[in-house]
Amino acid sequence: MDEGSLKLENREKPELSLELSRDDRTLLILQRIRLIGTGTSELAATAIEQLMQAQTDTAVTISFTEPEHSADWVQALRYEIDRERLQYGDVTVAERQEFLERRRPIQEGTRQLRKRLHREYFCTTDEALTEHERTESKLYEEIDGIVQNMSEAMGFQRPIVLELTRNPTMNAYVLRAEKLDEDFMSPSTEPVHVFVQVGMITKLRDMFKEQDKVFTKDHLASIIGHELRHLQQKKYQPDEHRVGKQADEQVRFEYDADLGGMEGAD
Ligand SMILES: [Zn+2]
Repeated sequence: MDEGSLKLENREKPELSLELSRDDRTLLILQRIRLIGTGTSELAATAIEQLMQAQTDTAVTISFTEPEHSADWVQALRYEIDRERLQYGDVTVAERQEFLERRRPIQEGTRQLRKRLHREYFCTTDEALTEHERTESKLYEEIDGIVQNMSEAMGFQRPIVLELTRNPTMNAYVLRAEKLDEDFMSPSTEPVHVFVQVGMITKLRDMFKEQDKVFTKDHLASIIGHELRHLQQKKYQPDEHRVGKQADEQVRFEYDADLGGMEGAD
């Protein structure tokens, strides 16, 4: 049976229209986009809803216009679809090559989008401290002092912004969206964000206390240095799940980050 198709039709710019075959994978991709997006997510949600309701063998057409759904959006969708197909090995060698060649400008488009969405997420969910809270927070001031010292010691020539979040679990990280294809050691005015969850500080403090030790600024400095070091590692990608040889490489990135962090803190 014909699975039908999904057409996302851009009325203003037909060249940005997309026609997708209608299968489970398309649904998955739309689902993922719905989860990461705002303007993007509405369109994906509409598409999912209509696909679910329609007969399986009918074609669904959803029309949209600029500027609510920008060219960025279509690029992001196209990129997600290609990446998904690539992961499933569902492409020819020539297609793969073509994808890799097209990848850079598309990644750039999705990177800007993801960065913006991530920021919006943190602002709207109340997770990150606001500008005002930052100026009032003693903890922010202390951690930021460490971030700025470490950034200088490690030779960064661009603004490194600390985002302190209310998340109670133990984690510190840099954004994958900010890491893609960038040379972090060249001078730049583009800020990069280092995220520290409050839970990391409280949990480590408690763990040290249990062993009659004190969690110090130097300990924190080496953790922050670890994250900053990840920015310097050209091929490191946060959140990338790797297997086999690549998993070994990931472990090396972590060791290297530990060393870099400790050296910077020294
Ligand atoms: Zn790490």
